[in-house]
Amino acid sequence: MKEKEENSTKKEIEKRSVNWVLVLFYLYLHILGIAGMYFLFTKAKWITVFYLLFLVTMSSIALTAGVHRLYAHSTFAATSQLKLFIMLAHTLAGVGPIQDYVFWHRMHHLYYGTERDPYNHQKGFFYSHFISNILSTPSDIKEYGRDIDMRDVEADGYVWTQRKFYWILFIVFGLLLPINVPMEYWGESLVNSFLIIGATRLMITTNISWLVNSALLVWGLERGAKYPVDDNSVFFLSKSYWLNYHYQLPWDWKNDEFGTYERGFNTFIIKMWRELGLINEMKTTTSNEVRDALCKVAMSEMTLEEAKDELKRNAEAAAYKEKLMFHH
Ligand SMILES: [Zn+2]
Repeated sequence: MKEKEENSTKKEIEKRSVNWVLVLFYLYLHILGIAGMYFLFTKAKWITVFYLLFLVTMSSIALTAGVHRLYAHSTFAATSQLKLFIMLAHTLAGVGPIQDYVFWHRMHHLYYGTERDPYNHQKGFFYSHFISNILSTPSDIKEYGRDIDMRDVEADGYVWTQRKFYWILFIVFGLLLPINVPMEYWGESLVNSFLIIGATRLMITTNISWLVNSALLVWGLERGAKYPVDDNSVFFLSKSYWLNYHYQLPWDWKNDEFGTYERGFNTFIIKMWRELGLINEMKTTTSNEVRDALCKVAMSEMTLEEAKDELKRNAEAAAYKEKLMFHH
């Protein structure tokens, strides 16, 4: 039986061959992007530097607070204006449709740390960050992707529109317009605009997008460290090991993608959206609730999964209650 399992696992690995078109694309993107960096520091106008920072920031917000926290994990609900902004800023990042990202990210969470985890952290940072993104889609993806509930995302009009018209939207909003602006408004050269605003910008946003899946290996607990990566003691540590915490309770809106819990730039953006009335139904939990849930696991028949489900239900109920109070 075990042998059979091993064989089937081996078969799966063989099926994920390298997609050389993607390899070439990322190779050129990085070569041109690095050349763009050189031009950025030596030849570009100052306003082009600020413009690059502005575009990268917008894309980064869409990738993290937008697509990761709103779409992949439903940590809060958003108004249609904000969803439109996220969709456009995400298209600007040039990393493929939101729906694809959500599918692979949910798969990553469901099969976390196993052979079926597309960004398996057990294989190291380089695999999780880069290799995983140049492998072809497994042929049996339909079979093991069946467990991934995508109904909420598929029902979203902005996600649907972006997917349907992705290439047109990307070429217009993600390439032509942003590259044209520096030439049109402050006389930047074509080479600088193309290399810096085209290649360097997309190289940075692509890496930010990859980093959401590999960040655990940068900021998470080290394997074999005092508190091992998958140790549930993360709960007792008052969320200080936030990234590992994200893999336990991914629906908590306070999980920042890079480096912090309840602080950090992306979390600040979400707090700002809340103040502006652009989001509601924000789900979170407290250390005390987590401790109580773990007590139940220790003292009763309840499993850890059941306890986590209960925490989620309580968080959803509390978020909904707050939304109702807000409206009255
Ligand atoms: Zn996640």
